Amino acid sequence: YKAKETQSDICVFEPSMDQHLLQSMELEADLRQAITRNELQVYYQPKVDASSEKVVGLEALLRWFSPDRGMISPGVFIPLAEQNGMILDIGLWVIEEVCRQLRQWCDQGYSVVPVAVNLSAKQFQSLDLPEQVSTIFDRYQIDSSWFEFELTESMIMQNPVSAIRIMEDLKKLGIRLAVDDFGTGYSSLNYLRRLPLDYLKIDRSFIDDVTMDFSADAVATSIIGIAKSLGMQTIAEGVETSAQLMFLRDNQCDFIQGFYFYKPMPAADISKQLIRC
Ligand code: C2E
Ligand code: MG
Ligand code: MG
Ligand code: MG
Repeated sequence: YKAKETQSDICVFEPSMDQHLLQSMELEADLRQAITRNELQVYYQPKVDASSEKVVGLEALLRWFSPDRGMISPGVFIPLAEQNGMILDIGLWVIEEVCRQLRQWCDQGYSVVPVAVNLSAKQFQSLDLPEQVSTIFDRYQIDSSWFEFELTESMIMQNPVSAIRIMEDLKKLGIRLAVDDFGTGYSSLNYLRRLPLDYLKIDRSFIDDVTMDFSADAVATSIIGIAKSLGMQTIAEGVETSAQLMFLRDNQCDFIQGFYFYKPMPAADISKQLIRC
């Protein structure tokens, strides 16, 4: 399958590739209909304050329930949707669905906590994004402080100059911005200091190893230090043990996300975690 993308004249072909290609084409055809057939659902994973352990925010994580294939992970279908451009429709659907849900929680009398939505590279590069988001905010009467976007380092570093402009437009709307999976990409610290960022999310690969491997401890505490000195807050992703939690709390990480507290869950289950105002 990879061979398709290389520029080489020589193409090694194996029967299994044929099968793989066919499967991904079928998957693509099914994905095209997933929105209209109501097969997509947004799950939400709470984020807690490291010291009070109160839920202070949610992350929207997309799920695809295919009648034929069962639950398909975003790790599988998001890259596919990114390749074929479908991510623009899917991404917009996620933003609208999250706003619809926020409006509903608000109308039901819950005290709303901000929801972070993951952006894809194509979505982030599209010039229409700030306008589209602001139209949806108006439609659902969304306070922009209820809404955050997560970007990755590679999305920013691909074209830092235009990235800064788009980020500033989003910030002007009042949306908070986070860098996801921080520490795995190639951020230039010189750009980082100029970016209008609110949060760095420490990648799970470091969190997995903290308290077990001193180099992971060093990376995690350094990220927390850089964030603090640049006026940003830190979120640790993938926290699964009390040892990890204690380490992060002792080292002044601000927010914790991970199976130790909560797994991603449907909106109906989230309602039980929210407080009525
Ligand atoms: P991400 O944004 O870095 O999300 C974190 C992933 O780690 C999620 O996987 C979450 O379920 C998982 N996770 C959270 N806590 C723990 C933990 O304690 N242990 C372990 N082992 N895993 C944990 P998920 O939901 O499968 O999403 C995978 C990736 O797919 C996301 O990574 C994000 O990059 C992408 N994604 C998900 N939803 C969307 C979306 O609506 N739009 C876009 N563009 N990408 C999305
Ligand atoms: Mg994320
Ligand atoms: Mg992440
Ligand atoms: Mg990650």
